[in-house]
Amino acid sequence: MTSRVANPHPEPTAKVPVALSVVVPLYNERAVLPLLLERLTQVLQPLGISYELVLVDDGSHDGSGVYLLEQAARNPTIVAVRLSRNFGKEAALSAGMDVSSGDAVVILDADLQDPPELIGSMLEAMRAGADIVTMKRRTRAGESWGKRLSAHLFYRLMSRISHFKIPEDTGDFRLMSRRAVNALNSLPERNRYMKGLFAWVGFPTHVIEYDRDPRAAGNTKWNLLGLIGLALEGITSFSIVPLRWASALGLLAAGVGMSFGLWIVVGAVFHGNPVAGYPSMIAVTTFLGGVQLLSVGLLGEYVGKTYFETKQRPLYVLRDVVQSPRQASQTPTPLKD
Ligand code: UDP
Ligand code: MG
Repeated sequence: MTSRVANPHPEPTAKVPVALSVVVPLYNERAVLPLLLERLTQVLQPLGISYELVLVDDGSHDGSGVYLLEQAARNPTIVAVRLSRNFGKEAALSAGMDVSSGDAVVILDADLQDPPELIGSMLEAMRAGADIVTMKRRTRAGESWGKRLSAHLFYRLMSRISHFKIPEDTGDFRLMSRRAVNALNSLPERNRYMKGLFAWVGFPTHVIEYDRDPRAAGNTKWNLLGLIGLALEGITSFSIVPLRWASALGLLAAGVGMSFGLWIVVGAVFHGNPVAGYPSMIAVTTFLGGVQLLSVGLLGEYVGKTYFETKQRPLYVLRDVVQSPRQASQTPTPLKD
């Protein structure tokens, strides 16, 4: 665990490194948890490697946390991590990755939109040499037309304006080697747009295409405003190109204003046109006012980010980390032979 944790819980007593950690951030997912654990166990046991399920309760208030503790008490492969309150998916993910000890780490949503059945082929790709295996969504069943269109546009915009490639149509569902996870855990920033950070650490990456399932149970935690916020976070965390756009827009507005002024002056001096003062004033003032506010707002977005970074607050606060001791028969098997 790193120093970014405010009150690091002592490591669980019988913590042994495992071949694979599956990290699942969850918030109010009580309805889907039994099915999630069942499907994960069905997939992971036949693989014949040692594994742990790091389930991070992001301050749920539907009993998910207590359910995790109960399960951890009887199943030593479960590491139940509870945060002190709801910190958001990105922070919960960071907590899970900090706690995880696997040589490889899979990140998965709790709602089974990311099928655990693909973990086998992800491990295959890693054995073939990839450090990171990203999962690209071919289809997104059960998601609205509006969400799909906005996601499509967002990924295209991001890859145009950031300095490195952020893969399109990939979510957080991925497999990472220990060194990639360590690199990610060492990034100090508080504004954590994970998709961007994943891409920033680099490493040989393999892409697998898959069909995204609809949610198995419960409701999505995202609404339109949340998604717009995430998009803004992504854009301003990884690019200052929008500041340049603001300057360009300002220049354009100034140019238009000046030409309009010249046009009025020329009309009045050479053609004797009467100057209709009020409408032209209003048009120019509103336009320039809009451009200025937009630019100031954009600037504020970056200044605000700097402000939060300077506070140096931890990303999350742990409530507890609970895991039962493993039996001697469950000694870890190495991932790479
Ligand atoms: N999640 C979380 N903290 C939050 C919101 C969501 O840990 O504050 C988890 C959630 O439980 C799920 C994953 O993040 O496991 C993705 O959330 P969701 O399925 O609601 O998003 P969507 O798939 O609709 O984009
Ligand atoms: Mg989901």
